[in-house]
Amino acid sequence: MSQRSRDPLRATLALAGGRGAAALSQALGRGSGTMIGGRVALRMDPHVLATVAGGRRPVLVTGTNGKSTVTALAAAALSPGGAVVTNATGANMPDGIVTALAADRTSPLAAIEVDEVYLRAVVEATAPRAVVALNAFREYTRGVSLAATLAHWRQAAARLPADCVALVNVDDPLVVWAFEPAPRVVGVAGGLGWREDAALCPACGAPHEWSGVAWSCPGCGRARPEPQWRIAADAADRWAIEHPRGVTPVTVAVPGRTGPVAAAFALAAADALGIDLTRAAEAISAVVDVDGRYVPFPVGDRRARLLMLKNPAGWTEALDLAIAERLPLVLAVDPFGPKDTTTMWEAPFDRLAGRVVPVTGGRAADALAVLDAAGVAGREVADPARAVAAVELTGSDEVVVACNYPAFRRLSRQFRAGTA
Ligand SMILES: [Zn+2]
Repeated sequence: MSQRSRDPLRATLALAGGRGAAALSQALGRGSGTMIGGRVALRMDPHVLATVAGGRRPVLVTGTNGKSTVTALAAAALSPGGAVVTNATGANMPDGIVTALAADRTSPLAAIEVDEVYLRAVVEATAPRAVVALNAFREYTRGVSLAATLAHWRQAAARLPADCVALVNVDDPLVVWAFEPAPRVVGVAGGLGWREDAALCPACGAPHEWSGVAWSCPGCGRARPEPQWRIAADAADRWAIEHPRGVTPVTVAVPGRTGPVAAAFALAAADALGIDLTRAAEAISAVVDVDGRYVPFPVGDRRARLLMLKNPAGWTEALDLAIAERLPLVLAVDPFGPKDTTTMWEAPFDRLAGRVVPVTGGRAADALAVLDAAGVAGREVADPARAVAAVELTGSDEVVVACNYPAFRRLSRQFRAGTA
């Protein structure tokens, strides 16, 4: 299954070339060189991914939303089984994965985030032990259609090794369909806040019927499989994950429903590798920061929690988080080509009715138009720190700042430097 390099010398040269390019890139001030090193190595030897995997059979994590968080928790969950290599910086295309694996050739375990459209190549090169499939939403940033991604996943699923466990979100009918060809499927109740992309059955085209989280297709009879892993209960910030072996409590430093869902997938991945679940849950609970994503920034006398949103599903989750946790919300939207506000138009901003929402960023006027169409009052505040200061607090000192991609990058930088 694994395509090991047939020429060790070529792989060695390719990796040396990659390191040279990375060093050169750094010296020229073109960033960390994470991508270019792997890219050069792959060009010199297409089998280099198999070579750097070195027989290590990773846990792969894919899906449109939430990959980085699940990968970080999966890396923690695997850690009781030995040292874990991971691509924590989110370099999730083959070049970034090559770079991550080449930088650590000794760790016996690997938790790797994989961009949706490269899953097949990574499966073929690494023969994974487990694949986590989170969700499938339309995504505008790369120009690959949802249908093409699903077809690609079906090919990848058919190529999984016989002993590989596909950990599939049973709440997303598209993911369930895409992983039908997988030899072993284990269901996880991962939730689906945004159903519009899954309105039609991908197999027969009939409209799905929903009853609570249960979905079924009147055309072909497909229906939500019973999950083996589910979120059982919550008490304060403590969650319980229910699974075939019992119930495992876990705490997660990730806000909203995202936390326990990521923990459930991470624990299921650890279980697939035979790792003790109590120790895996302890390791997950010890994670306090996922790549700086969920740690609120102090802004004046408040704390700003930045969320990066790239599709209607993401915006919907952010709105639901602000509503469920009664937190004030600020929108930050910067220029991002024709995709500036495309993803916002379909999200249910009408749920914010009654609030006044400060809007900041270079595309604030467009975001205000989205709010206006949803019947929500917004007002532009050019300075992001002032926008955070402009909302009325509701108990806590926390403010949710819902950002598109470029605004997330800019505000993270500014708030971190305290120069906002
Ligand atoms: Zn159907």
